[in-house]
Amino acid sequence: MYKKEVETAMSTKDKSKDHNICVVIIPPTDKVRRLTVPVRFLKAAIAVGLVAILIFSSILISHGKLKAKYKAKVSEMDSLVEENKNLEEQIALVDEKSSEIQDKITELENLKRQLEKMAGINSSSRGTSLTDRNRSTSKESLRDVEALEKKLEAKEKEFKAFVEEIEERFEYLETVPDQWPAQGRLTSTFGSRRHPITRRTDFHWGIDIANSRGTSIYAAGKGKVVFSGYKSGYGRLIIIDHQNSYKSLYAHNSKLLVNVGDLVDKGQIIAKMGSTGRSTGTHLHFEIHYKGDPVDPLTILK
Ligand SMILES: [Zn+2]
Repeated sequence: MYKKEVETAMSTKDKSKDHNICVVIIPPTDKVRRLTVPVRFLKAAIAVGLVAILIFSSILISHGKLKAKYKAKVSEMDSLVEENKNLEEQIALVDEKSSEIQDKITELENLKRQLEKMAGINSSSRGTSLTDRNRSTSKESLRDVEALEKKLEAKEKEFKAFVEEIEERFEYLETVPDQWPAQGRLTSTFGSRRHPITRRTDFHWGIDIANSRGTSIYAAGKGKVVFSGYKSGYGRLIIIDHQNSYKSLYAHNSKLLVNVGDLVDKGQIIAKMGSTGRSTGTHLHFEIHYKGDPVDPLTILK
């Protein structure tokens, strides 16, 4: 019975402790103060504090997250800006390259035209001209440049073949006996004439060029000497086979400077002018034969 009373008393005592809390303030100079705070109020204050801490920390966390997100966005933007810069640089490079290619193609076209002119070829229809292409290539894409490079490659291939062809053409032109064989006066042309010695009308199979004795006689074209010696009527004679169906003949020379079998270039001195054979004065009698038949040299000489 006593025990129960004690417990009841204790619980009553505890209960009375629940209601208030006593805080004693001891300032260094002033009197001691007693502050009584209701426990309920303290609990509420702690709860409010906890909630405040929770809210604050959640704000801090989300702020941190936002900051990280912002940082990621900024770096993403930075890389985009960098990428754009690289792209712009690439576009500039592409423009430069396509412009270079265009220039090269134009150069090739011009060179080709010059060579065609030199070789006497008229082939404006050959190949495709790219020179008239629009040159404003500021927005050319890489694919366009690739296409241009392919075109240039094709153009260079075409040009290489053309150069080979033109080289052959030049080689052929070197063999055509079209260079004047001597300096002097043209005293007789190809065709019917009254012969200066026989006084009979006959056919003159060449042209006569008169000048002083010893005047240089030049090979009219590149070829091989097939005759170098004396022949009745022609006197000291040279015959060159140009190995392209043409042969040229140089008569009445005073001196022969090349031998049978010699390879001569166009313009090479092969003899000296004279009046050997059936001749009335110092001159060169010059003939050109095409596929065995004499042709008028004035239609071939340039
Ligand atoms: Zn003659």
